[in-house]
Amino acid sequence: MAPHGEGSEEAMVVQDENRKPISSILIVIAMQTEAMPVVNKFQLKEDLDPVFPKGVPWVRYHGVYKDLHINLVWPGKDLTLGVDSVGTISASLVTYAAIQALQPDLIINAGTAGGFKVFDLYGVGSRQSFSTPNLLKELNLKAGKLSTGDSLDMSPQDEASIVANDATVKDMEGAAVAYVADLLKVPAIFIKAVTDIVDGDKPTAEEFLQNLAAVTAALDQAVAQVVDFISGKCLSEL
Ligand code: SAH
Repeated sequence: MAPHGEGSEEAMVVQDENRKPISSILIVIAMQTEAMPVVNKFQLKEDLDPVFPKGVPWVRYHGVYKDLHINLVWPGKDLTLGVDSVGTISASLVTYAAIQALQPDLIINAGTAGGFKVFDLYGVGSRQSFSTPNLLKELNLKAGKLSTGDSLDMSPQDEASIVANDATVKDMEGAAVAYVADLLKVPAIFIKAVTDIVDGDKPTAEEFLQNLAAVTAALDQAVAQVVDFISGKCLSEL
């Protein structure tokens, strides 16, 4: 009896939470170039009273847009090398700390990614992300499986796994954010704009840099559309 009762109570709680209007979202973005257009679009302000431990390079921007509290976190510049702290380690730490401090209803990991010309017909809904059928339909976005690794380039071993798992986009943070979000039971969605074709003719790093500015503009537009769609809705309506 007891386990049965507890189980259904838990299901009720989850259902209730999914029916509350979303009031706080956390946007996790790895690179400054990707983050700033979103910061500007929503007129977010940099946090002057940091919620993060002293000395870490992580940056939080926040503001209110319509009925939503928006927090955007960026892992900042590596303290030694001065480059963006891309990759899974920074992404998971900053996501963990931000969830603890800010208790968001929903996480959006937004960023650039590499795409695959040969697999795009196989695009399927990602297993770990929160399901958003209405959002995908309304905004005409493509769903696909995202593969994450700590390298911009693709090693033959990565390639074999990516092929075996039908991944259609490749980034350096998504799975880390998904892991932490799952651990702390916060729904998460992933918005990725394609900078380069991994299995195309051009070297990835070159193509990535060439397209970064233009693709960042597309990313910022997609994030704005998604946030507009989310505003006034509850999780079960996404
Ligand atoms: N110093 C690095 C900078 C690349 S960072 C280098 O040049 O090697 C790349 C960023 O863009 C990461 O945040 C990652 O999530 C994303 N990204 C874009 N295209 C990618 C691709 N083809 N593969 C992996 N990550 C990609």
